[in-house]
Amino acid sequence: MTNTAAMTPAAKLSAKLPLPLKRLADLAYNYWWSWANGHVSLFQNINPDEWQRSGHNPVALLESASYERLTQLAEDPLYLKRLQGLATQFDRYMQETDTWASRVAPQLSQEHPVAYFCAEFGIHESLPVYSGGLGILAGDHLKSASDLGVPMIGIGLLYRQGYFHQRLNRNGWQEDYYTDNPFEQMPLELMTNAEGEPITVQLQIRQRMVKIQIWRVQVGRVKLYLLDTDREDNDPIDRWLTGHLYGGNQETRIAQEVVLGIGGVKAVQALGIEPTVYHLNEGHAAFCLLELSRLEVQRTSKSFYDIEASVRDRCVFTTHTPVPAGHDVFSADLMDSYFASFWPELGLSREQFLSLGARRLGDPWEPFGMTVLALRLCRGANGVSELHGQVSRKMWSILYPDRPEDKVPISHITNGVHARTWTAPLLSDLYAQYLGENWSARVVDPQMWAGVDQIPNEELWSRHQILKERLVAHTRFKVKASRQGRGEEPDQIHAADHLLDPNILTIGFARRFSPYKRGALLLRNAELALQIFGNSDRPVQIIFAGKAHPADEEGKRIIQRLMEWCRHHAIRDRVAFIEDYDIYTAQKLIQGVDVWLNNPRRPLEASGTSGQKVCFNGGLNCSVLDGWWCEGYQVGPDGKGLNGWAIGEDANTSDQELQDRIDSESLYRLLTEEIVPLYYDQDANGIPHGWIQKMKASIKTNSVAFNTDRMVADYVRQMYAPGAVVNAEPILASALA
Ligand SMILES: *Cc1c(COP(=O)(O)O)cnc(C)c1O
Repeated sequence: MTNTAAMTPAAKLSAKLPLPLKRLADLAYNYWWSWANGHVSLFQNINPDEWQRSGHNPVALLESASYERLTQLAEDPLYLKRLQGLATQFDRYMQETDTWASRVAPQLSQEHPVAYFCAEFGIHESLPVYSGGLGILAGDHLKSASDLGVPMIGIGLLYRQGYFHQRLNRNGWQEDYYTDNPFEQMPLELMTNAEGEPITVQLQIRQRMVKIQIWRVQVGRVKLYLLDTDREDNDPIDRWLTGHLYGGNQETRIAQEVVLGIGGVKAVQALGIEPTVYHLNEGHAAFCLLELSRLEVQRTSKSFYDIEASVRDRCVFTTHTPVPAGHDVFSADLMDSYFASFWPELGLSREQFLSLGARRLGDPWEPFGMTVLALRLCRGANGVSELHGQVSRKMWSILYPDRPEDKVPISHITNGVHARTWTAPLLSDLYAQYLGENWSARVVDPQMWAGVDQIPNEELWSRHQILKERLVAHTRFKVKASRQGRGEEPDQIHAADHLLDPNILTIGFARRFSPYKRGALLLRNAELALQIFGNSDRPVQIIFAGKAHPADEEGKRIIQRLMEWCRHHAIRDRVAFIEDYDIYTAQKLIQGVDVWLNNPRRPLEASGTSGQKVCFNGGLNCSVLDGWWCEGYQVGPDGKGLNGWAIGEDANTSDQELQDRIDSESLYRLLTEEIVPLYYDQDANGIPHGWIQKMKASIKTNSVAFNTDRMVADYVRQMYAPGAVVNAEPILASALA
């Protein structure tokens, strides 16, 4: 082919590769490789240094690989055999037609898929358009949808600079900086028409028309479409609309949400896709309901109140935030400046339009709430854990004044994680031996997990220890680079080489540093904490990671306190902070720790998912009974935790000081009386049999429930199926008329 303009990026890349390696291009352009067995080394082997430098981006790696190296591999029979094995597996996966969804949800098809809208997607560290839990959940949702054969597309934004990067200065204070995403060297394909021109949609934002182009990411069988305003024909200000994730002020926020919601619906239309279901993952995309309404009014020439039911029939909503202040709201002024020409198209007055987002019927003076809009115009809504469902029903009962709280139509589907993404290859291999080759396709089967009892303690433990060593090595590497970066003394830099010890009980704590997550709770009683970490017989070590939002001063102060502890002379080899938390560091952490600590202020953790990732790898949770752990934690016959530990029972007090004291004391007690003694109760070969019993209990009881195969199946049955969500008849907006 000579017309390279019409070639897909994968085809262009393939053209540069020696014949026997051409399939590498297909693999590089589909993130399926990131959860397939035996994937990493195939790319890494090409050039380990470049692999690391590129942030594990296979396209950038292949683009930069020398012809010399490529031809070397092209004559290596072992390498070719592995490549062929993976390519065969890939083709089989992509062509499979007898999937779970084809049997259970035949009404969904590629032409009529579920359209899943979200402001962030955490697919892989080489596609940095995520910030934290919400994005990772969205990424895992798409991956399981792909595995189960659920026809689905994702709709999101392609951020030129993504979420900020974190660097800690010599005072332990967080500094934020941004780097450009090189779209052309990422596994992205710009959507073009038959002439090779980018497909664009247009939107009016403030006074100007803005053109949006669309990129496609392959996530197995699922296509993720990401919208981008960074085009030369846009005003320079508008080019930055998709510059940063969760950056800027309310003005930026509303503009981005208009691009996502309204632009998203237009993009889907421009691509010729007609979704049967629109799934709004969190309120950021709720403006899509307005665009769907506008299209329906236009198509039918009926009034808004006559078509709202047909919009609602196609839309479902998942809420993620248990605090009122966490829900996006926009002032009437802002709404005016974005929607003044929109409400006439719906045939609504300004007051009628604004009251769609007001909690109290017909109160246009309230700020416009995205969650309120979504609850009004979606046929079904859910929270993300049982407890969060309850909290949400209570919080939103104001919308349903005629109903008792337990009849508020918000159900729950508890979050999960994508087993194949988060299970370490070493453990996956062990499960393949003891649970069956295709264990990862049967994660919802409790019988299969019973097979964990067959794994010899020594074998499980030795693999766990290898993963812990890997975590220690990763931590040393990152900490050393950070110390070099901030110009610390040479002996400080060298000290990173013997930071931590893989034989010591290792705790992990990594997540956003929002104050409600209480990142420094463990250090509340400094004297006691020093005794626990510095104990010479039975020491404890901890690794922290996570970012505070740039505007969150209190979160930054918590990080600063942790950095002081990292420098404390008595325990500086036992406490580490890894900068710039991302999916890769998350994987190393959740695969290598003995104990995963989570101590949010209950009930502010809607679900949490990092602790679920730990379970697939044999780590044990020690957590407040909030979010998913409320459902996961089980008590054994001895009255103690069977599959982990619960901090502070489920007592609630509104006195934060008191709650912090109760919870930290409970945590110290658990550590000193249960966790540390159990870990160090080891036989002559250093095997802690009692501990391993708990590891096995955790794997068996948690993995079966808290995975996204179960979760996506729940969404298909309870939310996506036609006529599903019988309990949810959200109030009609027509009541406002
Ligand atoms: C899983 C994950 C999260 C979510 O962690 P929570 O403890 O559920 O808040 C955040 N960031 C990254 C990188 C993750 O992998």
